[in-house]
Formats: sequence, structure tokens, C-alpha cells
Amino acid sequence: MSVLLLTHPSGLAHENGEDHPECPDRLRAVMAALEAEEFACLVRDVAPPATEDQLCLAHPAEYVRWILSIRPQPGHFTPLDGDTAMNHASAEAALHAAGAAVAAVDAVCADDSIRRAFCATRPPGHHAEPRRAMGFCLFGNAVIAARHAQRAHGLGRVAILDFDVHHGNGTQAAVWDDPTILFASSHQSPCYPYTGAEEERGAAGNIFNATLPPGADGTAFRAAWAQRLLPAVEAFAPELLVISAGFDAHARDPLAQLRVREADFGWLTDEICRIADRLCGGRVVSLLEGGYDLEALAASTAAHLRALMG
Ligand SMILES: [Zn+2]
Repeated sequence: MSVLLLTHPSGLAHENGEDHPECPDRLRAVMAALEAEEFACLVRDVAPPATEDQLCLAHPAEYVRWILSIRPQPGHFTPLDGDTAMNHASAEAALHAAGAAVAAVDAVCADDSIRRAFCATRPPGHHAEPRRAMGFCLFGNAVIAARHAQRAHGLGRVAILDFDVHHGNGTQAAVWDDPTILFASSHQSPCYPYTGAEEERGAAGNIFNATLPPGADGTAFRAAWAQRLLPAVEAFAPELLVISAGFDAHARDPLAQLRVREADFGWLTDEICRIADRLCGGRVVSLLEGGYDLEALAASTAAHLRALMG
């Protein structure tokens, strides 16, 4: 069984501004780590663009057209919020990041030789709300992946598992009243975007938030998943697992204060794959979200891919 790696060069040209932590070097660090001999068996492909129709799985059409119309001249930036901006390549990069998520779903659902896929793309997506870009995110890639699996491949229940250190407020907003999609998230609290309290359960009881205090380490991170989030995922009996794979809970990350290590990300990925093997025909689609210390990001992504490869 092969693991698919999708990326697109536009992810190397999208920038939020000078000295911004969500920068092209992040993707370079990830791709350099995956050049190692142990990853030679990955099936590599270039991500196609998403269609507007696919982007509308998570956003109203007006929002999609507005984002895609923002194409400033090279060297210029169009700010969307305090920490999110677009340059000349951003619309293209966002199209291919969402398109990678869609193609990854197509591969794990329809290609018998592929059971897991990782999308090494930028911009990330889990903070993008249906009508609002924020937190370095333009389109809700994880939600688009989940709903594409339902619409194009007839799946019923899909679970989105988000271990980025920040709460995936955009994903939560998009699936709040959707009983067919479970959203499980571990995140530091308090921390940006200051949502994701454990009382936030969704209109259909389909949201599961586990908060971790600043300073929490891998033991607390593993316990949150093993004791609370993974049992909820299993009880939901999903047919596909989508991971919002942010690696900024790492101890070295400059944007938060958790003390998770790459081995913890590897452990969680193993556990997720075990559930997928039991309930989902092995199907896992993983999407890169945050992770801002380049060394930690590279090592964590490598640990994640090792586990996806089994
Ligand atoms: Zn994050």
C-alpha cells in the first residue's frame, strides 16, 4: 500500500508579507525532509487546482469569487486581517492547496493502490471561516476534503482530527450543525483564536474540543487524544479520517507554548491509522496546517509520514 504526497510550486510563491512566520521556507523545509531515502517510496504528484464548485463546499460563492479576484502586482500585498494577506501568487496557491485535498480524497477513495495521502501545501486552512479569511488561512481545505468525499464518493460520515496547537475555528464553524462530520481538536488554551472551549459541542453534538494549558507536554497531549478525542472518533464510526496536521504544538515552536515532541506526533498518527484500518478501510487524508520552527516542522512532518507509511 502506497502513501501519496501532493504539493504544488505555487505554495512556494504565496507570501503574507515580510518576516511573516507562515512563509515559503516552511514548505521548503517539509519537502527537503521528505527527500530523505526513507521516503523514496512515496508516490509523488502535483496538486491540481480545486474548482469553484469544490471551494463552495465550505464557503458561499461570493466569498470564493472575492478571494480568487485578489491578485495584487508582484511585490505588493493585499491585507485581509491583522495577520493574513495575499500576494500575486496567493489565489493560485489557495486553489492548489484545496485542490490537493480534493485529489487526496479521490486517491484514497478510488485508487486501490493508495490508502493514505499527505498534502504539503500552503496556505493552511483550518482558521478560514465560511465567510472570513483569518489566521493565515483562505479556504477551509479540511472541510472541502470531507464534503468532497461525501458528494463525489458517496461516503456518509467523515471525521476531521485537528492537532494543530491553535483551535480550528473555521472548520468548527463550517461543520457546527452538520451531523455527518465530526470535528475533534486538541489545542492550547488560552491561545489564538480564543475559541474551542470544551463546552462548544456543535448543534449536533459533533464537536469535541480538548484544551491544553500553556506548558503542557506530550504526556498531556497523548492523554487528551487517547482518553477523550479518539474514543469519540471511534464511536462516530467514520468512513474517512481527515487530519489537520499542524506541528506548532512542538516545544520549539515560537507561536505557542506547548511542549509536544515529534515522537508524540508519530504516536498520534499511528493511533489514527489504527482507527482508519479498523473503521475506514485504512483511508487517511492529511493536510499540512501550522508549524513555524523550521527544524521542528521538518522533523515532525517526517515522523508523521513515517507513521502514515506504517
Ligand atoms: Zn497553528
